[in-house]
Amino acid sequence: MREASKIIELISESTNIVVTSHKSPDGDSVGSSLGLARFIQSLGKEVVICHPDPCPEFLNWVKNGEEILDFENHTEHVTGLLANADLIFCLDYNGAGRLGAEMGDLLEAATAKKVMIDHHMDPDDFVDVAVSEPEVCSTAQLVTEFIVASGNSDKMNNSIGAPLYLGLVTDTGSFRYPSVSSRTHELVAFLLKSGVQHWLVHENTFDDNRLEKLRLRSYIIAERLEVLEEVGVAIISVTREELERFKYIKGDTEGLVNVALSIEGIKAAAFFAEGEEVIKISFRSKGDCYVNELAANHFEGGGHKYAAGGVSRASLKETIEAFKSVIPTYF
Ligand code: 5GP
Ligand code: MN
Repeated sequence: MREASKIIELISESTNIVVTSHKSPDGDSVGSSLGLARFIQSLGKEVVICHPDPCPEFLNWVKNGEEILDFENHTEHVTGLLANADLIFCLDYNGAGRLGAEMGDLLEAATAKKVMIDHHMDPDDFVDVAVSEPEVCSTAQLVTEFIVASGNSDKMNNSIGAPLYLGLVTDTGSFRYPSVSSRTHELVAFLLKSGVQHWLVHENTFDDNRLEKLRLRSYIIAERLEVLEEVGVAIISVTREELERFKYIKGDTEGLVNVALSIEGIKAAAFFAEGEEVIKISFRSKGDCYVNELAANHFEGGGHKYAAGGVSRASLKETIEAFKSVIPTYF
């Protein structure tokens, strides 16, 4: 990683360091933020993590009491931190808009030096140093690579490495997607050699479910799954009323779209969840079927070839109809 020494130089020159990541935090955004922040702390520097919205409950364990300030609940504090920062890390996103309009504007207005570490395609030009590697499976892998490339492998330990392992495991569907490379496994081996307790990451993330969450997921699969056999597409959806009925909290439907994609003969899956203001959409695909362009062209979104997302401002029914109508163009 060519940029590693430049980034280390920026860290050592800076006093007010802020780590940011995208809206709707996931294992990779939370994990890479905590891993990088703890690494920066191990260099004797102070750093704060500011995200647009709160961490989902199923990932809270990884914070281990540490604070991630969210803009939604700490608007003024985060506004001040961004304005006064001299170095801002932009992790796991490729454009200021992924912070949401308001926090995105604050990022663009900030006078701090900005460093992007990201694996999404087509990054916008809003940073001073960009590590942008779309072929890499996760931002957590890039942060691990940065720590190694900067000559600080000896700093790695369970505290820094467990969140990085979390990012790796969640963004790769537990090391199964094509984006996993031999380098991914080499870096995972490095994390384990450095004391990362990988089994605890799996247990804490995947084997600690609320009963309501499991019931909601079972209900959605039993009642809200539509299979379009002739085109190899599966659609799942859920209304607000249903989410409320099952006492939904953020993260409860995480990964359900992959269950739809796992059906035999299915090469693309979409999940539509009715939110307070918009319909939030997740797309997944495999083989020669890609979903990023569909998400960008029709649903104000984007993402990776095989995992993308977006939103719709129409009703749930209209949104699903709109999706069905563009299927022949893309698959
Ligand atoms: P998920 O389905 O897990 O929410 O998102 C999968 C991927 O799609 C994310 O990693 C991100 O790259 C992309 N994505 C999700 N939602 C959006 C969105 O609203 N806008 C854009 N540009 N990308 C999104
Ligand atoms: Mn990611």
